[in-house]
Amino acid sequence: SKAEGRGRLKSFQPAMLHARQLRNQLVNELKEAIAGNQLVLFYQPIVRLDTREIEGVEALVRWNHPTRGMVMPDEFIPIAEETGLISELGGWVLCTAVEQLQRWRNDPLTAHHNFNMRINVSAADLQRLEFVEDVRDALSTAKLDPTLLVLELTESAVIQGNDLDRYTLSSLERLGVGMEIDDFGTGYSSIDYLRRLPVHAVKVDRSLLSALGSDPAQPALLAAVLQLIRACGLGAVWEGIETEDQARYLLGIGCTSGQGYYFSRPLSEEVLTEQLRHHKTW
Ligand code: C2E
Ligand code: CA
Ligand code: CA
Ligand code: CA
Repeated sequence: SKAEGRGRLKSFQPAMLHARQLRNQLVNELKEAIAGNQLVLFYQPIVRLDTREIEGVEALVRWNHPTRGMVMPDEFIPIAEETGLISELGGWVLCTAVEQLQRWRNDPLTAHHNFNMRINVSAADLQRLEFVEDVRDALSTAKLDPTLLVLELTESAVIQGNDLDRYTLSSLERLGVGMEIDDFGTGYSSIDYLRRLPVHAVKVDRSLLSALGSDPAQPALLAAVLQLIRACGLGAVWEGIETEDQARYLLGIGCTSGQGYYFSRPLSEEVLTEQLRHHKTW
């Protein structure tokens, strides 16, 4: 009825107002965070499944908030994307990650590990003409070979691609950085774009692994997904590995790279540096 409708509206409005205020506050705080050094990168190893050596690290951003503590990216990346702050945030991630890799490569105690740096790139980055310049500048300032940087692109970012995206992607390809489809299997996965896009590898979403062991059809499915990726001439990285059985199964079907809590959680710069100095394998 009408009365009920009004009643609902009445109680809803203050909540909405409150949500909007909270959000505005968050947006302002995020601006300060980017400028004021409150963002930090954690690094999660990507491991060779046969030798268990580190072959890459994925940079994952966190917000070390003065009162809220460590805020995870799922809570602020969407807001950064909606408000356009994502380009600034992405620029900071790019420079910070590249400088960190340079430090690990120059530190005589960690330089014996040969691994690359992966960063997450948002759809907004591909829409910026200067993005390619930013990547080139960051690499040349750090004197790093472009192949040491891998950009992780989500399916949704590249699939909605317009002319500008395609221009950016082909410029990045010419620059020589690695490119990888992230979260494969969650979105619009099509064989067509796997073959069309200038990417070198695919990172399979962890949701495809979670049913392994309980669902009898799952092993065959995983093997088929891997065959598809390889038939397109691409490498595969499997994410979300949480057990030794999963790692062994994937290696058994020919997947050579993996990432997940079983090997390591994302680690702070300090902790990973210590591990690189002492660990040989994961
Ligand atoms: P993603 O790129 O798919 O990153 C992997 C996420 O899965 C990370 O969460 C990681 O901690 C988590 N993870 C890794 N291994 C395991 C596992 O074995 N089991 C489970 N359950 N989870 C695992 P995180 O760090 O919270 O990042 C969430 C998302 O935030 C990322 O998903 C990415 O889409 C976004 N993100 C993170 N950093 C950045 C960034 O610098 N820029 C942009 N644009 N997005 C970022
Ligand atoms: Ca990623
Ligand atoms: Ca992913
Ligand atoms: Ca994800």
